[in-house]
Amino acid sequence: MPTELAGAGRGMTAKIIDGKAIAADLRGKVADVVHRLHRDRGIIPGLAVVLVGNNPASASYVGSKVRMTASSGMRSFDHRLPETTSEVELLTLISRLNADPTVHGILVQLPLPRQIDVQKVIMAIDPGKDVDGFHPLNAGRLSAGFPALVPCTPLGCVYLAKTVQPSLEGLEAVVIGRSNIVGKPLAQLLLAENATVTLAHSRTRDLPAVARRADVLIAAVGQAEMVRRDWVKPGAIVLDVGINRVTGPGGKPHIVGDVAFAEVAEVADAITPVPGGVGPMTIACLLANAVRAACGLAGLPAPAL
Ligand code: NAP
Repeated sequence: MPTELAGAGRGMTAKIIDGKAIAADLRGKVADVVHRLHRDRGIIPGLAVVLVGNNPASASYVGSKVRMTASSGMRSFDHRLPETTSEVELLTLISRLNADPTVHGILVQLPLPRQIDVQKVIMAIDPGKDVDGFHPLNAGRLSAGFPALVPCTPLGCVYLAKTVQPSLEGLEAVVIGRSNIVGKPLAQLLLAENATVTLAHSRTRDLPAVARRADVLIAAVGQAEMVRRDWVKPGAIVLDVGINRVTGPGGKPHIVGDVAFAEVAEVADAITPVPGGVGPMTIACLLANAVRAACGLAGLPAPAL
């Protein structure tokens, strides 16, 4: 549950949705399911993470994913390939991982170097092992309302929103950003929760007015502090997916979201901070997806997570 925003500034009323704590709780649930799968079925879920090149942000994400996979009791397979890896080499590795029965989930960290066609790579992953949920089969299953592996960040957003408001039914949800990774699958998930969903983007007319309609407002844009106080309906739940590196007054680099946190916290009912909000949930949901994939491949029902 969110905690009161303590001492964060005069006039602030919003509760902080503590993504770190909620993610830790979800990772604990995942570890329990992993333990039971091993004990009762002899299955140890295995997650393979593939990193091509030396992008420092990607290397840091992959490091966290590998560490948390192992600490949840799963097998972690860490594949680091050089920047010069060819498309054929990567596709060969993916087909090996597809065929490996100890690997239940495959994640290829994006972005990829230029010589590799991202779409071909996404299409090459066995949809049953597609823990990122980017394969068109999973995207199609999600939009048709069938069971699917669903992208991790949108899963995390809905999970966080439901810690504040367990039923999203009938609420106005506005998602700003329509990427295949965040905005579109998030809109589908919110629709499945019976929210009334608006998917806004760079061509949306009068975006502040559209945003002000939202009971649940989610920004997944990549524009530092774009969502201002007067974009937010008093009492709304605000989730901030954005990760933007900016330079502070002292020339010190730091990370901010797509929402102007301090001023929006004066009107929102609940808000996720950046960092410590949506970000930690993405990895926790990845681990949950790896367990779902392992159950799916073994013909077992999806675990309640
Ligand atoms: P993306 O693929 O670049 O998509 C950005 C979306 O925002 C597009 O749909 C774009 O509209 C829209 N947009 C851009 N400028 C806009 C504006 N001025 N007004 C309204 N809409 C605008 O980005 P993404 O991959 O979805 O990521 C979005 C942000 O979330 C980034 O900061 C990224 O780093 C962060 N992120 C965080 C996590 C996490 O775990 N916390 C995970 C994934 C992404 P058009 O479609 O019209 O161009």
